[in-house]
Amino acid sequence: MAEETIIGIDLGTTNSEVAVIRDGRPVVLPGEDGDPILPSVVGLDPQGNLLVGKAARNQYVLAPERTIRSIKRKMGQETTVTLGDQKYTPQEISAIILRTLKRRAEAALGHPVSRAVITVPAFFNDGQRQATRQAGELAGLEVVRIINEPTAAVLTYDPHPTEMERLLVYDLGGGTFDVSLAQIENGVVEIRASHGDTQLGGDDFDQLLMDHICNEFRDEHGVDLRTLPASKARVLRAAEDAKKRLSSEPVTWVEEEFIAEKDGRPLNLKMEVHRHEFEELIRPLLLKTLTCLDQALSDGKVQAQQIDKVVLVGGATRTPLIHQLLEERLGRPVHSEIEPDLAVALGASVQGGLIAGIDLGPILVDITPHTLGIEALGELYGFMSHNHFSPIIERNTPLPASRTEIYSTVHDNQDGADIRIFQGENPDTRYNTLVGEFKVEGLAEVPAGNQILVRFDLDLSGILKVTATERATGLAKHVVIDSATERFRKRQRSDAVDRLDAMMSTAAEAGAPALPAPGVGEAAGAEPVDPELRTALEAAEVMRAKAERVLPSANAEDAEELRAMLDDLSTAVNAQAADRIRATLRELEDLVFYLEDA
Ligand code: AMP
Repeated sequence: MAEETIIGIDLGTTNSEVAVIRDGRPVVLPGEDGDPILPSVVGLDPQGNLLVGKAARNQYVLAPERTIRSIKRKMGQETTVTLGDQKYTPQEISAIILRTLKRRAEAALGHPVSRAVITVPAFFNDGQRQATRQAGELAGLEVVRIINEPTAAVLTYDPHPTEMERLLVYDLGGGTFDVSLAQIENGVVEIRASHGDTQLGGDDFDQLLMDHICNEFRDEHGVDLRTLPASKARVLRAAEDAKKRLSSEPVTWVEEEFIAEKDGRPLNLKMEVHRHEFEELIRPLLLKTLTCLDQALSDGKVQAQQIDKVVLVGGATRTPLIHQLLEERLGRPVHSEIEPDLAVALGASVQGGLIAGIDLGPILVDITPHTLGIEALGELYGFMSHNHFSPIIERNTPLPASRTEIYSTVHDNQDGADIRIFQGENPDTRYNTLVGEFKVEGLAEVPAGNQILVRFDLDLSGILKVTATERATGLAKHVVIDSATERFRKRQRSDAVDRLDAMMSTAAEAGAPALPAPGVGEAAGAEPVDPELRTALEAAEVMRAKAERVLPSANAEDAEELRAMLDDLSTAVNAQAADRIRATLRELEDLVFYLEDA
């Protein structure tokens, strides 16, 4: 059925794209301006109307205070960004980008879309993945799977090579870096190892070049442009443009008129930048990427010369020094047969197609790039320590994965235990990342040595559920590692949806394509639908689908309540009353959320 389309979204730091399967092949969908790339930038125009994509990016130089870029770098953090006089969570800003892509897809397909596969860097942790899923929900999308960006890129390759192929995917985007080792054979795409850095990307190159330009300018004119927000934004933009030109030219000029003022006199910026100067600035960062590459090879137990193809993904891989360093390191030419900007979205749509039941060929076996475990009493640096990291799921384990380990209480009559969950590779938890914690209370009052089973379930999206059970009594407690979700309570979430609805009603994506008729209620015909109502109707469709999915597993009482709420929703939809739809949705959402979690 057409409504079953699962779109694939590459939600990038700098740019985002949406793709779908058409006639059995993945295609990236262009916006109204014909460009498939949507800059991941959100802003407000002087009248307070929402701008998304190019329109927002273009105003960044003039109004950095009204423009937000690189929000992906903040995903999963407990922070907000200010836009106009309001504060927004990273999820909300990302949701604006996702909704714009959703609308783009709906305009191209001619029917509503409610399900998506979204890609994340392989190195995103649970909190970052959960935040991505929430952003999808806020945008009215059920995120059916989160897949790793480099893995998505591999899905665009022929799954049936004549002989087994080993691919190395080097993915350097605006803000993140991943390197993955994949093996393709007989229709199975297997990810063998993954490594990376979630805080390294082409944006860092811009920053380094901007610093270089500002330092030179300061030495010449005694003015530090970084202290003037508008000038700084202009230099940053000019630095990014220069960086891109340096990918195809050995030397370029950076020119900005009236960039600052000194003693009432305007100052111009005019500077020549050579590619080799730029390369020296970024070389240390590129060497870091090679260290990750070595680690991935060693984890995958593969020699550099056994790699059959090197696949470049991400806009920043157009940098010639990257090609040169990789060719030196691997002793073979690198590939760029797939547009590095589009490969990830294309692969996401392949995964979406596979989930929707379209026979596309590849079967994906993905892995977790981190080791996950808990803090326990154990040996560290030759002593017993409470900071000992006890791994439960080792990195590079195929997904989904479930593992259980046994731990024991240390004290007699110990009635509780703290379960602190970490990810990382260090035997000392203080060097790893705490991804969640919870307490098991009410343990039996018995001598030390009471056994606690700790079970880790890591799903296909890389999201972890941890259960601790007292072996003797069966007393169990579990937590889904969603530190970001916990902070983002349900109540806040429906407020956020309302806020977003209001904002999106003014959205302009350099001419955002309008939604087709939503296909629900009586307004689905010729009448233009009020944007607020349209969004409420879309949300109603998504929620109805979710409710219907949990209905079969609900007990009789819950099922009855759910049906009653669905009836209320239908009444509100038929009445075309946005307020009533939203009120019913809020109730319904709480119940569905509870049932999904049960
Ligand atoms: P992505 O997140 O994959 O869209 O990659 C965006 C990053 O690629 C940004 O840092 C861009 O500045 C960078 N980029 C795009 N085109 C080029 C180019 N021709 N040369 C170097 N970097 C580029």
